[in-house]
Parts: sequence; structure tokens; C-alpha cells
Amino acid sequence: MNLILFGPPFAGKGTQAKNLYADFKIPQISTGDILRKAVREGTEMGKLAGPLMAAGAYVPDEIVIGIVEERLKEPDCANGFVLDGFPRTPPQAEALERMLARLGKRLDAVVSLEVPTEKLIERGSGRRSCPTCGAVYHVYQNPPKRAGFCDKDGAGLTQREDDKAEVIEKRLKKYETETASLKQFYAQRGLLKSIDGVGSPEGIYEDIKKALGKA
Ligand code: AMP
Repeated sequence: MNLILFGPPFAGKGTQAKNLYADFKIPQISTGDILRKAVREGTEMGKLAGPLMAAGAYVPDEIVIGIVEERLKEPDCANGFVLDGFPRTPPQAEALERMLARLGKRLDAVVSLEVPTEKLIERGSGRRSCPTCGAVYHVYQNPPKRAGFCDKDGAGLTQREDDKAEVIEKRLKKYETETASLKQFYAQRGLLKSIDGVGSPEGIYEDIKKALGKA
């Protein structure tokens, strides 16, 4: 299955991508995770992307398109993949069509998680992340076992620069103005499956599987 998980920041794309991986062994390709790793490692790409990400701006199309094209060529994508956070602009969506054609692959579905803005803000402001391994928690909805520390490696949890209140608002606006219109792009291609993204992560995952004909 070749999928896109679509939706605004904090819609739950990462969580559902991990569920899909657990069931179908199709890797999650998160451009945000790949970029954050580059920032942590201080690569050239990371140096360019870091300030843009911290400000809630988008990283240039050429960079993210390059990341995805390289990643899709890896052998673990042979049986499918879940794109998470890409595409975010019309040029990225068009580039994806061209690269999939070159690689002899095609999309099976675009799963769009629908969550009202107030909920996104609530989820976003409570999000805490592990600066070492990238694990994600929520102060109320998904707290770590020991408050403030990562369950996996014990590191002190932090709020990502781009999860601070002012930046959250910018990211949500950016989604509305630059990304949301891609839903029409995929609806026109008969690929869009809209899912209610409010509720328990397990229930939402069941709805995703039903929409994909895999329940
Ligand atoms: P995410 O974890 O998907 O919310 O991404 C975090 C940040 O990485 C975004 O706010 C952007 O700054 C950058 N980013 C991730 N994916 C893309 C993309 N497809 N296009 C442009 N910027 C991106």
C-alpha cells in the first residue's frame, strides 16, 4: 500500500503512521522527522532547515522533494510506504506524481485526518518531545511514566521550538493557506479518504483500516 497521511499539524498523523507500520510493515516517511534529525546532527541541510522550522515556515520544496525521492528508492519501500507531512504544497504534490511514475509506483489512497482548530491547539500546546530520540508525549493525553522524562531513554522532555504557542498558530495558518487545498487535488484523482480525527487513537485507526478496505 502506497499512502499519504494528510492533515494539519497535531492531527495525529505520526501516531497513525506507526500503527500502519505495525500492521503492514510499510515504513513511515516523515519529512519533519528527517529534517529534525538533520538539525540535531548539524548537517548542511539541517543548518538551512532549522531556523525555518523554528519559525513555523516551510523548508524549500526542492529540499523536501529531494529527501522523499531518495527515501522512496530504499528497498524497504518496495511493498509500500506512508508519507507523513509530505506533500505540503502543490509543487510537492506534482513532483511526487512525477517521481512515483519514474519509480513505477502509484498512490493507493490519501487518508486525511479531520480535526477542528481548537482541538489542534489544545493538542499542540501539551506536546512534549524527547530531544534525544524524538519520542512524543502529551502532558495529559499521553504522559510519560515519570513526569518530564522520556520512557525510552530517560532524557528530560522539552517543548519543541515549533510547538510554542505563537509558532503553533503560524503553522496552522500555513496549513490552511498553502496545504489544505491539496485535498481537492487528491479528491479529483479519486484518492481522498476523509476520516474524523477526533476520538481515541485506536478508534481512529479502525476507521482508517475500514476506509482502506483492510478492517
Ligand atoms: P512536521 O513534523 O511534519 O509538522 O514538520 C515540522 C516542520 O518541518 C514543518 O513545520 C516545516 O518547517 C518542515 N517540513 C516538514 N515537512 C515539510 C514539507 N513537506 N514541506 C516544507 N516544510 C516541511
